[in-house]
Amino acid sequence: MKTYDIAVLPGDGIGVEVTDAALAILRAVEPRIARRLVTTVHPAGAAHYQATGAALPPSTLDACRRADAVLFGAMGLPNVRATDGTEIIPQLDLRFALDLYAGVRPVRTWPGLPVPLADPRAAQIDLVLVRESTEGLFHARGRGRVEGEAAYDTMKISRAGTGRVCDFALALAAKRQAQGRPGKVTNVDKANVFTSMAYWRSVFIERAQAWPAVAVEHVYVDAMALNLVLQPWRYDVLVTENMFGDILSDLIAALVGGMGMAPSADLGDNHGLFQPAHGTAPDIAGRGIANPSAMVLSLAMMLDWLADRHADAALADGARAIESALHGALVDAGVRTRDLGGTGTTADVVQAVRERL
Ligand code: ATP
Repeated sequence: MKTYDIAVLPGDGIGVEVTDAALAILRAVEPRIARRLVTTVHPAGAAHYQATGAALPPSTLDACRRADAVLFGAMGLPNVRATDGTEIIPQLDLRFALDLYAGVRPVRTWPGLPVPLADPRAAQIDLVLVRESTEGLFHARGRGRVEGEAAYDTMKISRAGTGRVCDFALALAAKRQAQGRPGKVTNVDKANVFTSMAYWRSVFIERAQAWPAVAVEHVYVDAMALNLVLQPWRYDVLVTENMFGDILSDLIAALVGGMGMAPSADLGDNHGLFQPAHGTAPDIAGRGIANPSAMVLSLAMMLDWLADRHADAALADGARAIESALHGALVDAGVRTRDLGGTGTTADVVQAVRERL
């Protein structure tokens, strides 16, 4: 039987709870698709840092490098800090170490689930935000400096770093076009103010020339924040710098029911890491009430990515089965956690999904 090795990093807080949920669902899907996904759990995160002084042990990083894919819960705890006061966030180190340059955050409205926008067109929201994940303002992480009474963090926008993520977004739009979506990329920047952002835009324009069938437009990030609230259904694929993407990905999650519904993938040319867009949610951790949907949808993204990479359609069938079982559980059976207005627990959702698989 075809076998894949998955490095699993549950992390902290609800990261552990939603990872357990996803693994239980993965075990249920394996027999359906006649594939084995060998999952090996590795330590990392804020609690591990507190206990050992290492947030991302070299053995864990090695395991991620060797695995076919990485399944990642969430990491960081508010009271565990590095000496400079920043949180312990090894997911950022992994992005840099594995060169995961494209942060892919798809959101779409699930029929029947509560959404904050009253406009009926909100039912058509189906967009993907592609966040550059290896430079931008996050380049400053660990390099910031305080000089006298002022602090400085530097944004880095390189031709190579921008070019590859723009190519990724344009290729994704072309793929979505082939599936019946508009096939449009909205480039989000602040080219009217910053040299770095004007450079970003010039690289995007250059790269877009290779994709004549993909429609492109440019929107400043501040206008984009407004448009994503007023008319998010207009957008298909967005591409943007690291920090802007960090902020807008939370905004788009809110459009479709909150962080509990927003999956993500961090992709490079050689590695893929899949995690819910949410954090460790210390306010609800340990109570068994986290919504596992974002993690379960991230698991489905992992299967789709592996299916493409290994030309193994059975894995894509597994992804569709998981999505439809989750849909059955949340929408048809109405088994929902509190963030979606229900009273169900994480375990209730897992059970309802497993029954449908
Ligand atoms: P980070 O800085 O890592 O993004 P955060 O603490 O800012 O983390 P989250 O951990 O994503 O943000 O939590 C934001 C809010 O969303 C919290 O109120 C949390 O309880 C809620 N939340 C996040 N994920 C889930 C989930 N899976 N189920 C239910 N509620 C969630």
